Amino acid sequence: MPHATTAATAAETDRQVRRLYHLAYRIHRIANLLANPQATGDGVAYATTRIPRALSAARRLLTLPGVAEHDETPYALSFLTAAERQLNAPPTTLLRIAAAARTAAAHADAADDDLRVVVFRDIEERCRYLVNTAMPEPALGRRGLTTRDRAASDTLQQWAAQWGLTQPADTPNPTASAPPRTEPVPTVPAELSRQATDRAAARARCAAGIRCTEPDCLTYGALKVTFLPSAWLCTTCIPAVNKRLAANGYAPDAVQPDPAGTPKSARYFVTLYNAIGKGSRSVQCSSPQRAQFIAETERPFNNTGYTICVSAPPRN
Ligand SMILES: [Zn+2]
Repeated sequence: MPHATTAATAAETDRQVRRLYHLAYRIHRIANLLANPQATGDGVAYATTRIPRALSAARRLLTLPGVAEHDETPYALSFLTAAERQLNAPPTTLLRIAAAARTAAAHADAADDDLRVVVFRDIEERCRYLVNTAMPEPALGRRGLTTRDRAASDTLQQWAAQWGLTQPADTPNPTASAPPRTEPVPTVPAELSRQATDRAAARARCAAGIRCTEPDCLTYGALKVTFLPSAWLCTTCIPAVNKRLAANGYAPDAVQPDPAGTPKSARYFVTLYNAIGKGSRSVQCSSPQRAQFIAETERPFNNTGYTICVSAPPRN
């Protein structure tokens, strides 16, 4: 019965074309991860693994009888070729570098390596900026990377390579995450050296601990006190603040060094907030030195203010 066989073959072809469609839609969503300037390392790794696999699966489907010639196949294929283009476009390389730079900056931070923190964060920021620029925004008259952007992208990639940030994602042990101290450091721009010097200076200042919150004092090594929960006061400011409070009708000596103090196991929470608008971010630290250092070096907003709270771990 040739007629029935033809019908069965047509139904099978339709089924395979539907599979191709599902694949194309899924891949379209995954490829969008590579269009996001803030994509995480995990997101980029996922997309760069999944897209090639989906493309091979699609190629296999295309070899099945009737699939390549099906009327609706070109539309499904348009998603797949777009995903492939996205995968091989400069933004994907830049996002990979950005993710490697973020990881390397965290390692450098843990190792108190201020120069590398500054360099890696700068690389990450510039990569993400270029990825954002690369996304066409017709409403803004933007059609992707200009010749100048491409040159900037090439220079940035070479710079990242000098710092060991361009190994393929599947290569273990990138040198950037554990830089041997004897390795010669590329010459960095003066602005980055200055930032690294500032960071090292902040680290040295913060060795004395949390800063007194009295605006005209700001001495390092202040104490947690009773009565004023967000204040940290030095021993000179405690009597001065008590005097001021007493003048406003509060009990004399209301403020005292907190007897619970700051036990070794305490956790410090630095809240960085936008002093002139919305938004805040909290960072947890395990020492007062680190908390003060974060408060002085992290600037998520143009006008960043901070408060430092401490909490003792629950007693068992
Ligand atoms: Zn003080």
